[in-house]
Amino acid sequence: MSQFKDPSKALEVLKEFGPDGLHMSELIDSRNSGGLTYNDFLVLPGFINFPADSVSLETRISRNIALKTPFVSSPMDTVTESEMAISLALMGGIGIIHNNCSIESQAAMVKKVKLFENGYINEPIVLSGDHTIHDVLEIKRRLGFGGFPITETGKLGGKLIGIVTMRDIMFNKNYSTKLSEVMSTDLVTAKCGIPLSEANSILERSKKGKLPIIDNEGNLVSLVSLSDLVKNHDYPLSSKNPETKQLLVGAAVGTRMADRDRVAKLVEVGVDLIVLDSSQGNSVFQIDMIKHMKSTYGNKIDIIAGNVVTREQAANLIMAGADGLRIGMGSGSICTTQEVMAVGRPQGTAVHQVSKFAREFGVPTIADGGISNIGHIAKALCLGASTVMMGGLLAGTSETPGEYFYIEGKRMKKYRGMGSLDAMKDSEKSSNDDSGSQARYFSESDKIKVAQGVSGSVTDKGSVKSFLGYLTTGLQHSLQDMGVLSVESLYGLVMEGKVRFEQRSPSAQLEGGINGLATYEKKLYSTS
Ligand code: GDP
Ligand code: 5GP
Repeated sequence: MSQFKDPSKALEVLKEFGPDGLHMSELIDSRNSGGLTYNDFLVLPGFINFPADSVSLETRISRNIALKTPFVSSPMDTVTESEMAISLALMGGIGIIHNNCSIESQAAMVKKVKLFENGYINEPIVLSGDHTIHDVLEIKRRLGFGGFPITETGKLGGKLIGIVTMRDIMFNKNYSTKLSEVMSTDLVTAKCGIPLSEANSILERSKKGKLPIIDNEGNLVSLVSLSDLVKNHDYPLSSKNPETKQLLVGAAVGTRMADRDRVAKLVEVGVDLIVLDSSQGNSVFQIDMIKHMKSTYGNKIDIIAGNVVTREQAANLIMAGADGLRIGMGSGSICTTQEVMAVGRPQGTAVHQVSKFAREFGVPTIADGGISNIGHIAKALCLGASTVMMGGLLAGTSETPGEYFYIEGKRMKKYRGMGSLDAMKDSEKSSNDDSGSQARYFSESDKIKVAQGVSGSVTDKGSVKSFLGYLTTGLQHSLQDMGVLSVESLYGLVMEGKVRFEQRSPSAQLEGGINGLATYEKKLYSTS
């Protein structure tokens, strides 16, 4: 008789052995004497019976806002302004515009994201026949688009008499020429009330760039733009408001009295999400702000509170009405909080303990800080976060604010902590309401500013859209290796014990890194 067991009974024998690796709670308990970071563990592989591109990355950033990818950009003045927020939203995530600037500048950045893509443009810029080419060029310079319906009154609701686009004025160097002389009058229009899909097919068929929508009397009601159709086609994952089809965008605010005006202005320009930006969110100020916002705006706007790293902090903010929580204290790549303030928590443990608790109330969590590769993103999601917030990983892309410069022949961009002295100095200069990074890290009465972050530089990463494409595909492959079909099902499988883990000793970390090479070049991705 063979000394070996029957191979066809492998699964039965497996049951006798019990599951390999650790359950998430064992993994976390195994570190009871010390917290866990992303690098301290690995996920064990599962069974693959589906292609990577079928893995769904859909998730929620807050109670009411769903995203197609779990990527969020940090509200930092070297990371997120309009360009970054537009790219994040086009690629299925969301950008949070920083508040290290005046209320007006922040609102203008939010508005720019909101104007970028539309279904019906319900409040289009409208001109009259008496406006000039100069007026058109000026608006084009300010807002980026150059096609305008012309009405008798020069206002929305007036009788439509023509349309002017860049093509009509391209060769006319006499900038004082009136638009009535150059506008096109052979108009293709549609009647109000038609579905957007029909308006889009009229645009496609007519090959025009703009479709004015009019009422029965020929008065202008709204506008549809061909370029929105193209964007829709090019970016199928984009995060949009289901009604307006405008891109989603968030904005950070502090918790001072002046921040209530800031919120009012941001809501006026259409912000979808407010992030209460504080390094330690468990405060009476934040609770008051959440209550103020809930009583003023109801459920019109979702509020992300934080930052938190413990269940106790989370409980207060959930009770006050937070729609989402941001987790992380001291784990950011530019951050010195743990060193200087002695407070914080290793990010893996923080993400798990807070997310597990917040999930009881249907409150999604953001793992914020310390994400420096795709593996960290996948691990944050395993630990219970619904999205990840990235600063350093997105810094250095062409969509971040600031100019490139060279150090020793390498193309670089600035990346700085919002608690760095550098950022706080700019906050004093640019925000007229005592807000921004000053407020995040200091009280008005502080005479000495103690830095909680550093200012540095990162290498050029090219376009963030390609980079986010790399993160998306990489994350799909990571979940495929785990045998998991969607981000939404991941945490359930983790808690059922189907996705399992292993601790990673220092030598295991060494083994998992690149080793034994005299030289190498680490290229992250290539696009074909
Ligand atoms: P144009 O041909 O120069 O007007 O510009 P494009 O067609 O390339 O871009 C127009 C983009 O700006 C579209 O995504 C519109 O949704 C957006 N947009 C937002 N508000 C307005 C507006 O008032 N007028 C126009 N023309 N476009 C707007
Ligand atoms: P990163 O993605 O670079 O690791 O971390 C970005 C996160 O660090 C931000 O989203 C924010 O929560 C946090 N952060 C930004 N600036 C500072 C700072 O100066 N000090 C501290 N403690 N945290 C910061």
